[in-house]
Amino acid sequence: MSAAKRRDPFRIGDLELAAGRAGSGELPVARLVTGNRVSIPVRVLHGRADGPTVWLSAAVHGDEVAGVEIIRRTLASIDPRSLHGTVIAVPIVNVHGFLNGDRYLPDRRDLNRSFPGSPNGSLAGRIANLFMTEIVERCDVGVDLHTGSDHRTNLPQIRADLDDRATRELAVAFGAPLMLHAKLRDGSMRAAATAAGATMLLFEGGEAWRFDEHALSVGTRGVARVLHQLGMNNGGETDVIDPPLESRSSSWVRARRSGISSLHVALGDAVTKGGALSTIHDSVGKRLSVTRAHRSGVVIGHTQHPLVNQGDAIVHIAEIHRAATETPDDTQSNSKDTS
Ligand SMILES: [Zn+2]
Repeated sequence: MSAAKRRDPFRIGDLELAAGRAGSGELPVARLVTGNRVSIPVRVLHGRADGPTVWLSAAVHGDEVAGVEIIRRTLASIDPRSLHGTVIAVPIVNVHGFLNGDRYLPDRRDLNRSFPGSPNGSLAGRIANLFMTEIVERCDVGVDLHTGSDHRTNLPQIRADLDDRATRELAVAFGAPLMLHAKLRDGSMRAAATAAGATMLLFEGGEAWRFDEHALSVGTRGVARVLHQLGMNNGGETDVIDPPLESRSSSWVRARRSGISSLHVALGDAVTKGGALSTIHDSVGKRLSVTRAHRSGVVIGHTQHPLVNQGDAIVHIAEIHRAATETPDDTQSNSKDTS
């Protein structure tokens, strides 16, 4: 390829990169109570040819380590010399939480409820503001990677605004088993990024603190397909995939009694209304309750914890609207973005 029209260098934090190069840098956040500096690590692949700028982020919730691995695999597969556009990888957004194995920040705030933040706000608000100004505002597209929380595991899925044409196109291209239309939540990265003009997908898969190989594989291939769809990575995934299931409504089935729950369903299972999902026994084996599906659909999440209190969320069921066409029909869109 001719380098006649060489792209400008890319600058972020302490990093300056020529076109066709990859490099790592840091975005300073704050100091720890020890006085040591905390900074967010970033790696940038600045393609030789023009194209979109895309961010990949993970560990916005500090215990969600799977996305870090998805980003590592993705970066290993891209050569900046053949890349069109620029990829900004931020594998650990919530560094404080990551160090502590904690979903939240030290002040117990949820970073994904603190966007867009402000330079003088709480620590979470400052990190959100830094992420918005240094990352989101220079990107066209973003993929934020999450897992289940609180001992829950999730079927690999995309949560996005499926009513937006560009977002929907990328969600379909990602090729996760399921796409869930999720309304924007105040304070989320997705809401702030959308308001800033970026197109954003949220990937959910697996559980906190763990590498679930299926979720890692779906996530890595999905990111590659999105980059390919954007014309950035011509060597990316082009394999034919089944069209994702689509849901616009999901909810959790909760324990009716406290006890020890044995689960009868797995991620991705189709369930019918009234079907048994789990049986709850007491400690000496007396059956207390059978947890039944309150709607027909597909299991997109469940608790991994056998000890349940009355009211605990056990199984997450998504109603399926398979056709990729219009019509949320009679169901209200009440999906909760609990990522
Ligand atoms: Zn999360």
